[in-house]
Amino acid sequence: MNHPRFFRRFAGLVLAGWLLLTGSLAAQTSTGQRDVLREITDVVGLKPRFELRATTEVQNAAAVVYGGKRYLLYNPQFVAAVNRAGRTDWAGISILAHEMGHHLNGHTLRAGGSNPADELEADEFSGFVLRKMGASLAQAQAGMAVVSDDEASPTHPGRRTRLTAIGEGWQRANQQIVASTRTAAPSATPAVLADRATAPVRTVATTASPVSVLGKITFRDNPAEPYYITNRLSVVHVDRQDRTAQVVGRLTRSESTNYPYVLVDGQQRRLYISRTGGIYDTSGRQVALLSDPS
Ligand SMILES: [Zn+2]
Repeated sequence: MNHPRFFRRFAGLVLAGWLLLTGSLAAQTSTGQRDVLREITDVVGLKPRFELRATTEVQNAAAVVYGGKRYLLYNPQFVAAVNRAGRTDWAGISILAHEMGHHLNGHTLRAGGSNPADELEADEFSGFVLRKMGASLAQAQAGMAVVSDDEASPTHPGRRTRLTAIGEGWQRANQQIVASTRTAAPSATPAVLADRATAPVRTVATTASPVSVLGKITFRDNPAEPYYITNRLSVVHVDRQDRTAQVVGRLTRSESTNYPYVLVDGQQRRLYISRTGGIYDTSGRQVALLSDPS
């Protein structure tokens, strides 16, 4: 974190030396009994595709890529000292989270050493992750408070700026957690699979058991092609030349009052239908309109 005491992407020379020694170094997957890497990746929904290595070849901690693999290196004596000085194990965890933030923000994919912008991104990530893991703001900041320098350097921001970045990440996670407890939990019912109609079904008008049409969908980018919603909540596309209709999707009810129906197509893409008949994609753009089937 603080150059040169705290560095990442250190030069190949040092790394090559370290790799020569890895055969004799016992790879450790946790600090103490906890699998901290898994805990960190769990709260951001990722698989722990990192190798955590305890090694005295680094003075403090580093995120490096070698042979296409992502490594988090840490010096166990350094992490223990940070935990002691910060008076909480969250201090050491925040350092690993910071290094993981370098990996996940793509910093280790670029050439070059530490720079202040990257450091702040990694700091913000550590604050975010530690809040998700249950740390207080003070606990999330404890490690940085003891390892960072007061003044900024060309490679690293000063302590105050870095603590603020951790605070921003922590607050962002906190707001998400507070918001998720305020609103009702989203339905855990899995999506209804749309019919994969291998053979086109007969048209609405000529089928043996009549299907009635509840609504018409007009897509903005293809207004000439009509789609209809049937009383079975299927979305059908009508071919006007051979007068057949093919099921291309299905409507399901949602828990939302503003978007009471979700349209799922054969590729499991979802569109959201508002009470007033607007149809929106997942990024909130209106793509179609639901109207009476006239
Ligand atoms: Zn860093």
